[in-house]
Amino acid sequence: MPADYHTHTPLCHHAEGEPESYIAAALAAGVSEYGISDHAPMTPEPFDDWRMNREDLPRYIEWIDRARAAAGDLPVRAGLECDWLPEIKDWTERLAAAHDWDYLIGSIHYLGKDFDFDNPKWLGRWAETDVEEVWTQYWDEYLRMVNSGLFDIYGHADLIKKFSYRPSGDLRRFYEPVIEAIATQNGTIELNTAGWHKPCAEQYPEQSFLAMAASANIGLVISSDAHAPGEVARDFDKAIALALEAGFEKTRLFSQRIYSEEQICPQT
Ligand code: ZN
Ligand code: FE
Ligand code: FE
Ligand code: ZN
Repeated sequence: MPADYHTHTPLCHHAEGEPESYIAAALAAGVSEYGISDHAPMTPEPFDDWRMNREDLPRYIEWIDRARAAAGDLPVRAGLECDWLPEIKDWTERLAAAHDWDYLIGSIHYLGKDFDFDNPKWLGRWAETDVEEVWTQYWDEYLRMVNSGLFDIYGHADLIKKFSYRPSGDLRRFYEPVIEAIATQNGTIELNTAGWHKPCAEQYPEQSFLAMAASANIGLVISSDAHAPGEVARDFDKAIALALEAGFEKTRLFSQRIYSEEQICPQT
C-alpha cells in the first residue's frame, strides 16, 4: 500500500483523534509510510479558524514525535499543508526553515484573502458566481503556486470543483499549463481521495487530469486528507486502480524533501 502523506491533527480545530489512533489506522491499512501535514500557520494572525497558530508549532512537532513513538517500524514523515496566496511567499520560506520537514504540500483554498472557496459557508456565493471566471482565476493561481517552486507536492489539484460547479466544455484547457509547469520541475501531485466524500463525489484531480499527468511523467502520491483516524488510507484500493488506469506505475516517497519511488501494486 502506498504512503498516506496528507493527514491532519486536532491542532487545526476541525480534525479529531490522538496520534496513537492515527498510527493504529495506518498500521491496520498497511501503508508504506505515514505523513502528517496539518494546515500550516498563516500570517498575519488571526488568519482564520481552521489552522494551527504559529505558537502551536512546537506542539505540532510534539504530536509528530508521539506518532513516531507509536509507529514502531512504520516511517512517520513530517510535513505541512501550506496555503498558497501570492503575497505569502516570504512567510512560506520562513515556515520551510522552521523545521526539517520531509515535504511541504502546496494547496489553494483561497482566491484572495477573504474567499476560502471550499468552505461550505460560501455555497450561496457559489450559486451566483461566474464559474468560468472563478475557474480561470483558480488555475492561474495554481500555476503561480507551482512556479513559486516552494512545494514538494501539489495538493488536491481541482479542489475548485468541490461543490460541483464546473464550466462547460473540455476542462483540459485549464489543466494543460499547470501540468506542463509541474512536469518541467519534475514535481509531484496527489490523488486525494477525500473528494469522493464531498458534493463533487469524485477524487481530486479528475481522471483526465491524472491521465495527462501520467503522460507527462509527473510524480504521484496517493492521499486521504484524513481529518479523523477512520479516514486514514480511505479508498486507497479505488485510488490505486484509477492511478494504474491513468498510466502511473509508481508513487513517490519523501524524506528531507528528497523523493524516491516505489512501485504501485494492484490490490486484490
Ligand atoms: Zn482541513
Ligand atoms: Fe486542503
Ligand atoms: Fe488537508
Ligand atoms: Zn487538504
